[in-house]
Amino acid sequence: MSTLLELFKTMEYGPAPESTAAVNAWLDEHNRKFGLFINNEWITPKGAKYFASHNPANDELLAETMQPGQKEVNAAVAAARAAFGSWSKTPGAVRARYLYAIARNVQKHHRLLAVLESMDNGKPIRESRDIDVPLLARHFYYYAGWAQLMETELRDYQPVGVVGQIIPWNFPLLMLGWKIAPAIAMGNTLVLKPAEFTPLTALLFAEICQGILPPGVVNIITGDGRTGAALVSADVDKIAFTGSTEVGRILRRQTAGSGKKLSLELGGKSPFVVFEDADLDGAVEGVVDAIWFNQGQVCCAGSRLIVQENVAQKFIHKLKARMEHMRVGDPLDKAIDMGAIVDQSQWDTVDQWVKTGVSEGAELFQPDIKLPEKGLFYKPTLLTGLDPAAATVQEEIFGPVLVSLTFRTPAEAVELANNTRYGLAASVWSDNVNLALDAASKIKAGTVWVNCTNQFDGASGFGGYRESGFGREGGKEGLFEYVRPKWMERPRPDFTPPAEGTKSAWGEHIPARPPMPSIQRSNGSDKPQVDRTPKMYIGGKQVRPDGNYTMAVLNPKGEVMGQVGDGNRKDIRDAVEAAHAAHLSKPGWAMRHGYNRSQILYFIAENLDARNAEFVERIVEMTGRTKKSAQAEVDATVERLFTYAAWADKYGGEVQETTLRGITVAVNEPMGVVGIVCPDEYPLLGFVSLMAPAIARGNTVVMIPSQKHPLSATDFYQVLDTSDVPGGVVNIVTGDRDHLTKTLVQHEDVDSMWYFGSAEGSYYVEYESAANMKRTWVGYRLPRDWMSREQGEGHEFLHEATQVKNIWVPTGE
Ligand code: NAP
Ligand code: MG
Repeated sequence: MSTLLELFKTMEYGPAPESTAAVNAWLDEHNRKFGLFINNEWITPKGAKYFASHNPANDELLAETMQPGQKEVNAAVAAARAAFGSWSKTPGAVRARYLYAIARNVQKHHRLLAVLESMDNGKPIRESRDIDVPLLARHFYYYAGWAQLMETELRDYQPVGVVGQIIPWNFPLLMLGWKIAPAIAMGNTLVLKPAEFTPLTALLFAEICQGILPPGVVNIITGDGRTGAALVSADVDKIAFTGSTEVGRILRRQTAGSGKKLSLELGGKSPFVVFEDADLDGAVEGVVDAIWFNQGQVCCAGSRLIVQENVAQKFIHKLKARMEHMRVGDPLDKAIDMGAIVDQSQWDTVDQWVKTGVSEGAELFQPDIKLPEKGLFYKPTLLTGLDPAAATVQEEIFGPVLVSLTFRTPAEAVELANNTRYGLAASVWSDNVNLALDAASKIKAGTVWVNCTNQFDGASGFGGYRESGFGREGGKEGLFEYVRPKWMERPRPDFTPPAEGTKSAWGEHIPARPPMPSIQRSNGSDKPQVDRTPKMYIGGKQVRPDGNYTMAVLNPKGEVMGQVGDGNRKDIRDAVEAAHAAHLSKPGWAMRHGYNRSQILYFIAENLDARNAEFVERIVEMTGRTKKSAQAEVDATVERLFTYAAWADKYGGEVQETTLRGITVAVNEPMGVVGIVCPDEYPLLGFVSLMAPAIARGNTVVMIPSQKHPLSATDFYQVLDTSDVPGGVVNIVTGDRDHLTKTLVQHEDVDSMWYFGSAEGSYYVEYESAANMKRTWVGYRLPRDWMSREQGEGHEFLHEATQVKNIWVPTGE
């Protein structure tokens, strides 16, 4: 027997494996073969195909799960549909008890869930036991609370319906919890598909649900990407997806125009910024956690290290020394830091990326540590000396590979941090609170951790900016993915999308021949009126259309009552550029105080009201409506401007009650440049109902007014001109609506697109938005009463005008 003294001398870790007995017994109980979980039953159709799930640490076969076809997928959706009626009507306080029971039972089965998770995925038991499963329970407790409070706190909302949910393999249980808890809390029913590499804990979770939930509320179907695609095309009301940006893009296109709500949690290449005054040893531990947690297979992994130049050498030296002490091995060993990569294919991808990095000129560092002989293990890897534009620096590797860059000034740090098409998370390290929070406010990401990393909690939303997707999971903000306003029906647009690959003429436009002149005379005068064609409004200036074409505006009798510019691509590009500049200039529109923006909105209201009669007359002239109705529209428009002057300084965000000791704040940031296509109903009110919330919350906008009735909008720029609105905040381009929309939605510098035109246009806007994953809000031609305060203003508009950033700041020691 080795003596205690010897043990102390060597300080070797002995193996400390977690037992697999309970998991093996559970798998054996199911004969290591699983059907689909539909209506609280296990369905195993005759002749069904199965595929195997292995333990990546030792290649042991764990079990087989089913690969269903469209028919089985539809059956699962039908079960959820049948359950929806009663589940959605179950009082929130009762649903809360179901969620509470799930949370309790997750805790009771904590060890079984954690061990199975580590066996199926390869992640260290330390993580599945201390992070994944506790966070799973936490999510159900948190949303049990929102179920309890729904009827009072969300009384203007209803559930969305039947939700299809698709999750990846990196956090099988956690992603499941993030999807299922808010969905059923809000009264939806669902069908969830886990990833083919890691289906087993979802099935164990199904068994927990079986004893608790009514049949059909939660249905779980296994299978690969084809099952996912089948679920997306089934009769669901919403798709909630977590996975790669590549598949996210496919789903955006597949659901375009269908009226199915969509949330996408996609990939990332998150920066980890270390300033010279940071606690370097603390930051090194942070890096370990940021990139080697879960073998780096983390969507928000801090995979881009950005260190201030004068401490870079020292920092990298400390980091390499720390890497020499990493323990990689059996995931079930309680004393290891890194487990196995999920699958051979993923291992190969990671290895290929490392080779690419080296070929791009990186210096490769891997510590001199021993890996187990068998199993899919990979050393923690550091690549230094790369160019910021290198593919290895730009693309998500999704493995234990860190790339490192340096910067000189804080401004350069922010620039490098934002030099990515993603925007999921960031970590900022500095002992200077002003510097750290300044960087946190400037980095474009849904989550920013200050002097910490990879903090998660049910009470805080998580999700992306830019190509990292849209929608949030967690927190109150996460609820809005699973509800719709009470007045709104599920949109069932009257438009059938063309077959994939069909070339479309949508948005093509041949400028119309301008109408021949006919001299107009003012009432009672024999002098002709001065010929006046309203211009476009770009960058605070009235400009003629680039193509020098105009188009006629007709009154209800079909007579020409005026002409407006017929804008083209160039006009849209100029308008976007002006909006972009107004967003960035110092101080940009977004950087102004809410107080200042509210003053400007009040001023617009005041100036509009001063010209009240003129606007009434114009609406009567254009639409043929009664004077009374036009008057009501103008009055409602003034009112609406007051509403958003009010909201300009009252929607900044919230302090989140997370488990972090410190402060977690949710900040409602503007989207950036928003393209807005106005409805034909209410030419003035429709325009202002969309413009006002967007600019109140700090966005700059490119407006395409109603094509039919554009003159209220062109009259409106005179109001803007006299109301201290800085140039470029509101830009107005008139012309062929769909032609202009097409250029706008395809523009890389447009961050979000609102469209209230046709059902066909709604389809194309959603479809085209996939190119850079811009967030969209489309009307599908669904009726909306713009005059009503319920439908024409309020939270729905503010929600669309903002994106939530959660900033985590620990305090104390
Ligand atoms: P993935 O290939 O996009 O797969 C995600 C899920 O979609 C899986 O269940 C997959 O099934 C399914 N799927 C594949 N093709 C599909 C299709 N055409 N239609 C519908 N579903 C389809 O992603 P992954 O490689 O598994 O996961 C890694 C990615 O997830 C990374 O990019 C990571 O950043 C991202 N991620 C993001 C978050 C977040 O919150 N933002 C969290 C975790 C992970 P099969 O796996 O069975 O093929
Ligand atoms: Mg996959």
